[in-house]
Parts: sequence; C-alpha cells; structure tokens
Amino acid sequence: MIDYVIVGAGSAGCVLANRLVDKGYRVTVLEAGGSDARTEVRIPAAFTKLFHGECDWGYRTVPQPSLFHRALYWPRARMLGGCSSMNAQMWYPGFPADYDGWASAGATGWDWNTLKPYLSRIEHGRNGDGGTGLHIEPVRDPNPSTRAFLNACERSGVPRLGASATRTGGYSLTPTTQRLGRRFSAADGYLRPAQKNTRLDVITNALVRRVLFEGTRAVGVEYRDGDGQLRKLRVAREVILSSGAVNSPQLLLLSGVGDPEALRRSGIDVVLSLPGVGKNLQDHLMTAVIAECPKPVTLVAARASCASSCRRRGTSRPTWARPRSSSARAPSSPSRTSSSSSRRCRSRITAW
Ligand SMILES: Cc1cc2nc3c(=O)[nH]c(=O)nc-3n(C[C@H](O)[C@H](O)[C@H](O)COP(=O)(O)OP(=O)(O)OC[C@H]3O[C@@H](n4cnc5c(N)ncnc54)[C@H](O)[C@@H]3O)c2cc1C
Repeated sequence: MIDYVIVGAGSAGCVLANRLVDKGYRVTVLEAGGSDARTEVRIPAAFTKLFHGECDWGYRTVPQPSLFHRALYWPRARMLGGCSSMNAQMWYPGFPADYDGWASAGATGWDWNTLKPYLSRIEHGRNGDGGTGLHIEPVRDPNPSTRAFLNACERSGVPRLGASATRTGGYSLTPTTQRLGRRFSAADGYLRPAQKNTRLDVITNALVRRVLFEGTRAVGVEYRDGDGQLRKLRVAREVILSSGAVNSPQLLLLSGVGDPEALRRSGIDVVLSLPGVGKNLQDHLMTAVIAECPKPVTLVAARASCASSCRRRGTSRPTWARPRSSSARAPSSPSRTSSSSSRRCRSRITAW
C-alpha cells in the first residue's frame, strides 16, 4: 500500500511529492489534467492562450456584490504543474506584514520569520546549491514600454525597491520563475526531479471525486481514470488535498465535510460538520492599465509581425500567434468593451 496520495499536481502538490519521496515514502499523485508539454506553457507571454482551453477549468464566479454584481472569468489550470504552468511567472514572495497578519489572526507558524527560510529554500534550491526549487531570473529582455514606465516612475520620485523588498510603496522590475527565458514551473522544479524515484507514481487524467473515510479518518480516495473507470486508492498514512483554492474545498464538500445543512440539501451524507468549508474565499483584485502605444513594441504588434512573416514563408502561424476566436475570448469588463476605450487602445492587456 502507498503511504500518501496527493490530489492535484499543482504548485503545492509538486513540492509535497518531492519532499515526501525524498523522505522515503511511497507517494501517488493524482492529477485531473494532462501533460504540460505545450508551447503555450513554455513561452512566457503565451499563457493567456491557455485560457478557456482544455488546460483550464474555466471557472466563473457568482455575481460579486462589490463589483456591481459582475460575474468574473476565473482561470485555474488543469495540467501538470497546475497554475504554475499557466501563471504570469511573477516572483514575489510577499511582504512580512502579510504573513504576520495571518499569524496574529490565528495561523500559528505562518509568520514571516518562521517562513523566511522556506521561501529562501524555494529561491536558492536551483539558483544556489543545485537542489530542488524554482529557477528565478530577471526578465531577460524587458519590453521597451516596461523600461519607459519604470523610468517614468523614477523621474516622478517613486522609490525604487529591490526585487526582494520587504515593504510596499515603490517600483521594481519583477523577478520571474523562468529559466533562459522559458517558464520554469513547480513541475519542472519539483515533480520531474522526483519522478526519477520509483517510489513516486504520477497518474494524469485522474479526476478525484471524493475522499474515502472510515469514521472521520481519511483512508483513501475515489477517482475516475482516463478510461472513465471508477477506481479506489487506499493509503497507509494520509490523503493530501492540494487541488487548489477552489477544488480542495469542493472535494471536501463532495466528501461530506462542510456545513451539515448545505450538504443535506445537496443530498450528501455528512461525515464531519465543518461549516467554514467553501466559504469566505478571497482573491486579489488586479487592475489592468490600458494605454495607447504609438510604437510597434506590444504583443499585439509581435503577433501581427509573426503573422506577416509566416505568410511570407508560407508557413502556418503558431497557436500563440493566432487571434482568439470570438467564442473563446475572455469576457471583458464593461470599461474595456466601451466603444471609446476600444477606439483609443491599440494595445490591450488581458485580465484574469
Ligand atoms: C492566470 C494566472 C496568473 C497568475 N499569475 C501569478 C504570478 O504571476 N505570480 C504568482 O505568484 N502567482 C500567480 N498566480 C497564482 C498562482 O499560480 C497560484 O496561486 C498557485 O499556482 C496555486 O497553487 P496550488 O497548488 O494551490 O493550486 P494549483 O496550482 O491550481 O494546482 C491544483 C491542481 O489540482 C488539480 N485538481 C483540481 N481538482 C482535482 C481533482 N478533483 N482531482 C485531481 N486533480 C485535481 C488541478 O488540475 C491542478 O493541477 C496566477 C494564477 C493564474 C491562474
């Protein structure tokens, strides 16, 4: 029997698999998605091409009262590496005050001083001592508009912060989780090195449907494999849910752990009353700044230039350079669809 089953080979699942196998345990990772071997995963700026495709769960939020009841598109990756294979690769470990806030709210052990060595281990595993970790590097070739923006910040007297700044209120060029200009995901940094070990089994296209319990003890999982077969997997030690901020609580609810009333209404037998499960999820908001760019330095210009050189060579355009079909386009916010803004903007930033 295996020791641990890890549900989800995303950022957290890949690290856990690596560390547990390293300690001598037998581990099976079940990932609902498939391989991450795609051009759009490797090319740093092509990640939005993965939106709404087979590597994206493609969620929408319920209408948000604080956003004039808009429902937002919410990308979540479904493949090896999870969102680390689809994210924007900005490496910011966060500010001490964020972590200390969690600790003072009751999350013992999550304060900055306790976590700092772990963050440092992520950063220095690959770059430093050759162990496992992420590869962090500066943007190799910042876009001229990025340089212009940062220069403008400097001239306006905004403080310049180092890449590992411990305070907010300034500007800096974002370090990236890339290696030689290509995405470097948690699957690259942690899962693949661990796969050399026979104690690790990674099963893709395996959708976990529920956690199996004996009393209130989790003893395994039930999953549907790539051929549509329902399978059960029992573990000697623990079931680890690392299925992301949306799917982990969903899996708990499907398994009977949550608000008893809500579970009964959905016809799910209650295993454990834990009313907080699936509630109070908060995500950071991001505001895209849209500006007219008079020079042909944007991704839109790059795509157009790629299209014309492909036409000249008589080759077909790579998928990242193809325009999105209107049915697959991310829904825009009202401000972006207003006719005045679309007339003014030659360059758009896709939001998520
Ligand atoms: C578009 C985008 C841009 C982002 N940009 C940045 C950025 O620049 N910098 C940054 O620090 N963060 C960024 N993030 C956030 C960051 O990537 C995530 O917070 C992080 O990857 C989440 O890790 P996780 O392990 O919690 O979940 P995930 O990485 O989402 O992994 C969850 C995995 O579980 C699998 N799974 C889910 N349900 C099941 C099931 N029932 N059975 C089996 N498998 C299942 C999923 O398919 C997925 O692979 C971004 C995220 C997105 C989506």
